[in-house]
Amino acid sequence: MAESVELPGRLAILPFRNQVLLPGAFIRIRCTSHTSVKLVEQELWQREEKGLIGILPVRDAAEMTSMDSVLSQGVASECGERSSKVQINTSDALKVDGKNHPEVIHWHKRGVAARALHLSRGVEKPSGRVTYIVVLEGLCRFNVDELNTRGPYCTAKISPLEMTKAEMEQVEQDPEFVTLSRQFKATAMELISVLEQKQKTGGRIKVLLETLPLHKLADIFVASFEMSLEEQLSMLDSVDPKVRLSKATELVDRHLQSIRVAEKITQKVEGQLSKSQKEFLLRQQMRAIKEELGDNDDDEDDLAALERKMQSAGMPSNIWKHAQRELRRLKKMQPQQPGYNSSRVYLELLADLPWQKASEEQELDLKAAKDRLDSDHYGLVKVKQRIIEYLAVRKLKPDARGPVLCFVGPPGVGKTSLASSIASALGRKFVRISLGGVKDEADIRGHRRTYIGSMPGRLIDGLKRVGVCNPVMLLDEIDKTGSDVRGDPASALLEVLDLEQNKSFNDHYLNVPYDLSKVIFVATANRAQPIPPPLLDRMEVIELPGYTAEEKLRIAMQHLIPRVLDQHGLSSEYLQIPEAMVKLVIERYTREAGVRNLERNLAALARAAAVRVAEQEQAVSISKDVQKLASPLLDNRLAEGAEMEMEVLPIGVNNHEISNTFKISSLLVVDEAMLEKILGPPRFDDQEAADRVATPGVSVGLVWTTFGGEVQFVEATAMVGTGELHLTGQLGDVIKESAQIALTWVRARVADLKLAAAEETNLLQGRDIHIHFPAGAVPKDGPSAGVTLVTALVSLFSQKSVRADTAMTGEMTLRGLVLPVGGIKDKILAAHRHGIKRVILPERNLKDLVEVPASVLSSLEVLVAKRMEDVLEHAFDGGSPWRQHKIRTKFLKSNI
Ligand code: ADP
Repeated sequence: MAESVELPGRLAILPFRNQVLLPGAFIRIRCTSHTSVKLVEQELWQREEKGLIGILPVRDAAEMTSMDSVLSQGVASECGERSSKVQINTSDALKVDGKNHPEVIHWHKRGVAARALHLSRGVEKPSGRVTYIVVLEGLCRFNVDELNTRGPYCTAKISPLEMTKAEMEQVEQDPEFVTLSRQFKATAMELISVLEQKQKTGGRIKVLLETLPLHKLADIFVASFEMSLEEQLSMLDSVDPKVRLSKATELVDRHLQSIRVAEKITQKVEGQLSKSQKEFLLRQQMRAIKEELGDNDDDEDDLAALERKMQSAGMPSNIWKHAQRELRRLKKMQPQQPGYNSSRVYLELLADLPWQKASEEQELDLKAAKDRLDSDHYGLVKVKQRIIEYLAVRKLKPDARGPVLCFVGPPGVGKTSLASSIASALGRKFVRISLGGVKDEADIRGHRRTYIGSMPGRLIDGLKRVGVCNPVMLLDEIDKTGSDVRGDPASALLEVLDLEQNKSFNDHYLNVPYDLSKVIFVATANRAQPIPPPLLDRMEVIELPGYTAEEKLRIAMQHLIPRVLDQHGLSSEYLQIPEAMVKLVIERYTREAGVRNLERNLAALARAAAVRVAEQEQAVSISKDVQKLASPLLDNRLAEGAEMEMEVLPIGVNNHEISNTFKISSLLVVDEAMLEKILGPPRFDDQEAADRVATPGVSVGLVWTTFGGEVQFVEATAMVGTGELHLTGQLGDVIKESAQIALTWVRARVADLKLAAAEETNLLQGRDIHIHFPAGAVPKDGPSAGVTLVTALVSLFSQKSVRADTAMTGEMTLRGLVLPVGGIKDKILAAHRHGIKRVILPERNLKDLVEVPASVLSSLEVLVAKRMEDVLEHAFDGGSPWRQHKIRTKFLKSNI
């Protein structure tokens, strides 16, 4: 190990080209050039004791930087392993190569004395050239005072640069040196421990750290790194131990950092490599297995297509991440594996859903919207006005959180078509979601994917179908949702319609939030009453009453007939349905609040016409051919029995001629006979009420059903029995109770009403009463038949017929008070449809008459009743039966 050495005044110099030997470092060199062989031979090989030589760095000019000014001036040499001739410049030595191009070299001013640890001599064959391999150990720095390049090799007059022991001891006291030493030691230790972890070679160096003086160790450490020549030279030039330590600390630290960075990078690369390699390997195996099993690679193509579709779906970033995770899972699965298909269907839904795709909303033109509503729908002035208001608000504030419109009315009054008109006025797509009969919450919210056969809810499904995120969505028949053990769909709908919550609607199947806030919801219902109040609260109810006969006629003439003709490929040139016939269809074939059946009947007429037209078309074309055949030329040919060559006429001409002929012959004007032939015998007539109430015990009521208002007959009869009340006609509890109340009231007033002889106060003595509500197949309930029931009973007991032109509605209390009921408008419209002329209403329902169209009111006599007596007063010809005071006891007895 490098202990302090005595340096001679002059040393043989071995130049090191662009390389530095630092004290404490070892180097193995091969000497082949003439000068170096000579030097080794004379200075090392032939000496008995171990000789010293000086190692001096020399540099090519290209390696120089302007910083280097440590060149010995005025020295010239002709040595160095590869140098042949060296010329002296003021500061540079010029090396001339064989082609006479001078090459400048620089001698460094400081070098390191070295001793040979090992020498071996070799003789090259066949040239006989001698070479040496020398292992040198750097010992200590020296300064070149004078360089002599004459002679077989260079020599130099030198002076030592290392400190004496005393000087060193003094420096070691220096606190700056102490701090620097500590710093160096710490950094060196750190490096050693890093190296230890990596290569398990730190043990030996650790020992050095403990035993060697640190300023020497600095050289040894630095010598073991790969460094630039500049750094090596500056280390060589650091004669002051403090400078050397701080430089070494810096270099060791840098080396440490670079090891760490390199380690990090390798770790990362290794990690990635091993993961991707593993995946690659597994994929290869999978492919091999698939090939073995005969599975083709279609699935992979499909998955790639699916991935592309997902990429272009415009999902929000968090959902995209979720989808990618699912896709990665899918990729690892085999198509036969359970869950593969469901995962794939799920991803396809994610890719298909319109996350961002929206129909571009046109600038809303209110005038155009109004025109459109008017051209699509007849009448409905108030409803259209409200829709225009709604659209106007949207125009001024597109993100306005207006209420959800809910059209309430009987079937066929145009609720759906109004909603679709809103969509076209806004330039949005339209999607209808039927909620009728939905009892399961999962129908709205979807089933969780853990269930077999799970699927998204109807809303998400609808959005997938429509393909845009801002459609007008019609929630049809929102009143028909029910709740049972499978949850409450209405509560899920609450979330949908709540503008605060529907930004992140959570479908169980989708399992990621979907923004419904851009959807415009419109709902329809037949009745507002069954809609749960919280849901109703979020909607603005717009009622669409049924149409009057006059309105229906207008709708049919202006809208339905043109549409029906168009749908059947006809025009008014082929089929004409006169107004009078439409009226007949309305009166005799349809008795509904809306126009759906009317449209159906008109369509039946159009179908019949279409058949006739199609038949005639055939007949006409055949007859034309016959005409052509009748030409003399063809006649002749046919006569000869020759084969005829058909001539093909240009189609345009032919068609034109045919349709001309056809037009004239096929115009069909519907008449009464044709109506009966196509639609069958009339289903309704105004005589119905008169026929039914011809016998006492029958009264005409007005009720409300999901199909709008209806006329409801009530039949009562008495028979021998034990005083029981029989009720039939699929009645609900409320209506059964009404019947009880009605009977009690009549029995309680038997004397007042003069329904029985004074001695016979018990009307039920020896008889049963049976009350029936036809049509027996239709379930009925509600309190509004109260007055009708009493009227029927009074009619029965008094044996006096009720007026056939009078219908009534109203709930009755036990004490005979007439209470108001709902649906007055629809009920009056129904009475009007049935040709009823007088309507008895509870007094407190008078206010509802404002909603009834004036044309209907003008054709009806509205009679109000406060008490049951008032009803009876109006219901019978000539007022209440008791006024006429004819006790029918005899009849009652004979009737039994
Ligand atoms: P709902 O949804 O109320 O059951 P629809 O909207 O399906 O009824 O209407 C049934 C048919 O009647 C549709 O063809 C519709 O265009 C037509 N219709 C209803 N009301 C009108 C009206 N006021 N003007 C023109 N057509 C109407």
